[in-house]
Amino acid sequence: MSKSSAPSSPGICYLVGAGPGDPGLLTLKGKECIEAADVLVYDYLCNPELLRHAKPGTEKIYVGKKAKDHTLTQDKINELIVKLTREGKVVTRLKGGDPVLFGRGAEEATELAEAGVAFEIVPGITSAIAGPAYAGIPVTHRDHCSQLTIFTGHEDPTKEETSLDYAKLAKADGTKVFLMGVERMGEITGKFIENGASPDTPMALVRWATHGRQQTLIATLGTMAERVKETGFKAPAVAVVGDVVTERKNINWFESRPLFGKRIVVTRTRQQVGGLSKQLRQLGADVIELPTIRIEEPQNLMAFGELVQDCHNYEWIVFTSPNGVDAFFKMFYKLYKDIRSIGGARIAVIGPGTAEKVKEQHLAVDMMPEKNFVAEGLVAALKDYQSLENVSVLWVRGEETREVIANELTGLGAIVDEAIAYRTVPEKDDNLEAIARLVNEGADLITFTSASTVDCFMDLKVALPEGIQIASIGPITSDAVRKHGLKVDLEAETSTIPGLVEAVQKALA
Ligand code: SAH
Repeated sequence: MSKSSAPSSPGICYLVGAGPGDPGLLTLKGKECIEAADVLVYDYLCNPELLRHAKPGTEKIYVGKKAKDHTLTQDKINELIVKLTREGKVVTRLKGGDPVLFGRGAEEATELAEAGVAFEIVPGITSAIAGPAYAGIPVTHRDHCSQLTIFTGHEDPTKEETSLDYAKLAKADGTKVFLMGVERMGEITGKFIENGASPDTPMALVRWATHGRQQTLIATLGTMAERVKETGFKAPAVAVVGDVVTERKNINWFESRPLFGKRIVVTRTRQQVGGLSKQLRQLGADVIELPTIRIEEPQNLMAFGELVQDCHNYEWIVFTSPNGVDAFFKMFYKLYKDIRSIGGARIAVIGPGTAEKVKEQHLAVDMMPEKNFVAEGLVAALKDYQSLENVSVLWVRGEETREVIANELTGLGAIVDEAIAYRTVPEKDDNLEAIARLVNEGADLITFTSASTVDCFMDLKVALPEGIQIASIGPITSDAVRKHGLKVDLEAETSTIPGLVEAVQKALA
């Protein structure tokens, strides 16, 4: 993204709307601003998963606020973003929803303007409209209303008198939406009724809207305050008042998906976690991403490079993981400019996930087991395919991978060289928030997609919540679970991510 010209400094501050929570509800421009940032300054209501768009090394500053407990006062936040921008940095200030709808974005913009530093406002999708939509409530509807009023239920507490004219609000036509109102529900609904609104007016509260943990409470203007008390309903929530609430019975799409209300933990690497969580989220699950492992270069990168350099000398190249394919081609393109340098080797893979990665390189896969997507399955398939006597094989593997391929193929007469492409290490960064959610809120199910995810999860010493089910991608991962004295509740029929998703859906839906 190009920087706007600022006369006094090259820094710029983007005031970006992060959307209401669903990581897909970020604008393209918002994403570019996160990618371009040197520093990210973010709030309580911003989904931390958005921070993943940042380039490595980006500084991340949490200035979150929860009702009474301010981590940084607004003055300090203003000072901070001005200071960082003056230092010449690209500062991306992420705010939940839209930055200028009750988000104090206007105040921050004023401070930046007064300081004479460059800034831009990047609007976002507001919870005021998206929240109700995810609860199946359109804020306008030709059959019900053609007017929408949005107000805040929590004004500046230092104000002596409310600037809200409840008499006018109560009499206004159409839908009313208010934010920050849970704690004053009785007061607000009471004022509406005092001023002539019908206590029977339909009303909804949508909590953590657009997140997997969304909750909706339906009542009327007359009963909502009571219902909030009874159910212990808490902020953050969007309130909607009006006949549009009745549309929910027809179009409650988000909450009627099969895994809605189920909390699932995903433990893959930060790079890979996305695919699995996306599929689970599409089914409605509330996903906690807790990466337990990270992929790093092998200890002997030189030895790996030498084998990759000679890859055209082999009759077969065998890949047993998507990570191996990634590492292989990263090295390959450091050494060569042209895919033809790979020569005439045939390519064997362990399963569909690995095959996908090979196909991304516009290479065909010559051999894959039909269903048994483990090393033993691959050996059996190769053995059926041809005699392996004196056949040269380059096996691209992880440092911790089981030795099955080398042992068995050598036993069948093949000449196997092992290219150790990567190693798996425990992920210790940035997972505190996910661990806190798991401990505080519990979960229905945890997924393991390799033995290393199991071992590294156990190393975290996080107690598994009572009643949580354990889902494993296949037999090797299941063995690892049992080694820790735990029970596997479900195992994917085919050892692939879609196979795992299917098993989870069957068990929970
Ligand atoms: N600028 C934000 C609003 C900030 S005020 C926006 O445009 O959405 C903070 C209030 O917004 C919260 O108290 C709550 O009322 C509402 N809010 C923000 N995100 C929400 C979400 N995901 N679910 C429910 N309410 C939300």
